[in-house]
Amino acid sequence: MNFSDLPADLAGRLIPKPAGKMAYRCLSCDAVHGIGELLYTCPRCGGVLLLEDAAFGDLKRTPSEMWRRIFDYRRLLNVPALKGIYRFHELLGPVIPLDSVVYLGEGGTPLVEAAQVLQEEAGIRFLYKNDGQNPSASFKDRGMASAVSYINFLIRSGRAGEILAVCASTGDTSASAALYASYLHPKVKSAVLLPHGKVTPEQLSQPLGSGARVFEIPGVFDDCMKVVERLAETYEVALLNSKNAWRILGQESYSYEIAQDFDWNVQDLAVFVPIGNAGNITAVMAGFLKLHDLGVIETLPKIVGVQSHHADPVFRYYEEPDPSLRRFVPVTVKPSAAQAAMIGNPVSMPRVIRLAEIYDERSGGRNVFVVRVTEQGIMDGMLSVNRRGHVACTQGGECYAGMRAALREGVVSDKDTAILDATAHAIKFSAFQNMYFSDSFPPEFGVAAKPELKNHPCLVRPDDLALVPAPGKPLSGDALLEFIAKTSRDVAGALGLNPRKPAA
Ligand SMILES: *Cc1c(COP(=O)(O)O)cnc(C)c1O
Ligand SMILES: [Zn+2]
Repeated sequence: MNFSDLPADLAGRLIPKPAGKMAYRCLSCDAVHGIGELLYTCPRCGGVLLLEDAAFGDLKRTPSEMWRRIFDYRRLLNVPALKGIYRFHELLGPVIPLDSVVYLGEGGTPLVEAAQVLQEEAGIRFLYKNDGQNPSASFKDRGMASAVSYINFLIRSGRAGEILAVCASTGDTSASAALYASYLHPKVKSAVLLPHGKVTPEQLSQPLGSGARVFEIPGVFDDCMKVVERLAETYEVALLNSKNAWRILGQESYSYEIAQDFDWNVQDLAVFVPIGNAGNITAVMAGFLKLHDLGVIETLPKIVGVQSHHADPVFRYYEEPDPSLRRFVPVTVKPSAAQAAMIGNPVSMPRVIRLAEIYDERSGGRNVFVVRVTEQGIMDGMLSVNRRGHVACTQGGECYAGMRAALREGVVSDKDTAILDATAHAIKFSAFQNMYFSDSFPPEFGVAAKPELKNHPCLVRPDDLALVPAPGKPLSGDALLEFIAKTSRDVAGALGLNPRKPAA
């Protein structure tokens, strides 16, 4: 759309200029630290940080109706820096000039109404938000675009030289970090640490393909995280895990997009999010809170975190109904098909506790919940929805199982509309699909394949066929005709096809 076609009162507002007074705030000691250098934990007490904008109050001078129009009209512009998460620049990283924004196609992921048969079966209206349709095929790209745009800003303004970005990962953070870092090569290089054998082949191929240094470490994600934290404390590296508050900030865009796709009316929505390191659920709460603070949305949707019974520390924490008795205890994880969320000691737990408190208070009652599902439910969930038009990963299957559990337990009702986060693309997790189809899950998962959800390729090689084609050795003449006739006969037989009726 041309600027000359825009409403006159918006023309000056659509291209944001750097603004805001951003700072890190420590969630433990409340100290405030400048953003001039990259911080991951509070230099005073070691607590986790969140970013805040001391000038956020100024945004309230713009009426909420005006904000809605600004965000809606921005959708029409062909300005790359505003096509992704920075459509919400004022809420995400107001200090970042648009020419520092790294846009690789992240954000703006589709909200897809679940197939009618699935909704009838579940007894609730629900939609998937396909965050697997981000450039590295997971939601991590939202946070990475934010963290790497900030790094780019530091470099371009002469406040940082060459940067080595590091992260530990359950697979998707490293894919995303390696991709975004490689875009700024050679100023930014990346190294990723993965738990050996605990990421899928597709996830391992991603950072390798982006040219990152890839290290496989014994143990599980929680062990990798400890190593990478030591690296960040001891050496000159930039940490790209969600401990980095810029990651959380970028992931808030998920909530903004949901609100916008519902024309800013989120009444009776319930947003389901799988919980691993708990960065995403933190961001989702923070995002809705900001919109609510500005009056852009008038109510707060229900937030439902979902965990597997094999990695459920956040569920256990909230299982205690009396907040004064709650105590966080890390768990030792067991193998989980929701492998990207297989974390026993989530880094963002203090953020979740703080934000859930604020969220419930602002909602005027409990509005943040955590439900627990089985590994069987996760796999059955993923395969059931993908057979009906969706592209959910195992964590997306976890959300579906979580929605069914929440409905049974009365956390949501059939009056609600559920939004399920397909946090990554199904193809990243085809290894789990294959294990299901061949019924070969190791016993510690506790997953048995249901025959009606299994699927196999079928080799057609008619017994009565003398010659078949091979690569580089095509058939011709009668041999080819015979091959076509007998093979199509066998395929038709397997499908139970009726012959075409002869024309009358
Ligand atoms: C990282 C990840 C999660 C977990 O998100 P957290 O922010 O760590 O809670 C869930 N699903 C996928 C696909 C992921 O990559
Ligand atoms: Zn502190």
